[in-house]
Amino acid sequence: MQDNFGRTIDYLRISVTDRCNFRCTYCMPEQQTFLPRTDLLDYTEIALIAGRFIRHGIRKIRLTGGEPLARRDVDVLIQELGRHVQSGALDELTLTTNGSRLSYFAPILRESGVRRINVSLDSLVPAKFNAVTRGGDLDQILNGIEVAKTSGLGIRINMVALKGVNDDEIAPMAKYCATNGFDLALIETMPLGDGVSGRTGQFIPLDDFIRPLLEKGTLTPLDHRTAGPARYYQLEPLHLRLGLITPMTHNFCGDCNRLRLASDGKVHMCLGSEFHVDFRDAIRSGGMEAVDRLLQKALRLKPERHDFERQMEDKDLRLHRHMNATGG
Ligand code: SAM
Ligand code: SF4
Repeated sequence: MQDNFGRTIDYLRISVTDRCNFRCTYCMPEQQTFLPRTDLLDYTEIALIAGRFIRHGIRKIRLTGGEPLARRDVDVLIQELGRHVQSGALDELTLTTNGSRLSYFAPILRESGVRRINVSLDSLVPAKFNAVTRGGDLDQILNGIEVAKTSGLGIRINMVALKGVNDDEIAPMAKYCATNGFDLALIETMPLGDGVSGRTGQFIPLDDFIRPLLEKGTLTPLDHRTAGPARYYQLEPLHLRLGLITPMTHNFCGDCNRLRLASDGKVHMCLGSEFHVDFRDAIRSGGMEAVDRLLQKALRLKPERHDFERQMEDKDLRLHRHMNATGG
């Protein structure tokens, strides 16, 4: 599949639910309104849409949210999508999670064909982790990560860079990841959603965030790519593969390969735009032909680039949608 700008689209992110058991301060406000459950696609509908997308050229799927492992019986969906990996129709099925239910789900993920996952972890200090997530228990997450590791899942830790919050933790986090054989991805905070207080003041460019690592180490660019937007570097002497995700300071839209299916059936063509195409009615009343037609429309309407820089500066341009609605 190609969009109007000649980009190959082969990666689908599926937000399984917009709900979450955490309320990370940069992601959503404490009092967040979620979609009514009746608005959600059921697992059969998600699997049908995903199957159709795969027929048209999607090769990688990432489950995200909200917290994907918090939706009831999500193992049914994981197993269903995993069949496409086993048949060779899909190169990869992955997942981004806050880790709170990993100790239960890690073996199921592995058996279903998942080989690597991303786990969000913004701090290794229990009180700070609890404050950033508004309630998370660090020990529970570290335990879940350990179970995932022993289950044979490859792990990348996602750390959102927050000035004045975790900018003193980059060195310990790098060490934790290196010691355990995990990759580490750092993410610049994006201006998504209403009512997220303090985020503009917490923005820090990754060039500044990683400075402590460069005092004693060296970074060498790597050719390694995953399906996502991270640019990878080798950090020595820690032997750490470090990914930098810089939506704010180094735009990566030129090689965007993604579409995002939200839990209510809307396909978002860009994280930074309100454009979407609604697949729920299509799958319920129009069948596969309607799904195919909408997919072509989504490709036509995919914007050339996001405009987070202006959205960060000008409140009136900001998107009302939070990250949990479209999935990170
Ligand atoms: N709940 C899961 C988790 O936290 O990993 C999956 C969904 S979460 C929305 C996906 C990723 O988006 C996480 O790594 C999270 O840290 C990141 N994220 C959320 N809001 C963000 C924002 N405003 N800017 C940058 N990254 C954000
Ligand atoms: Fe939940 Fe993930 Fe958003 Fe945190 S970043 S509130 S864990 S969806």
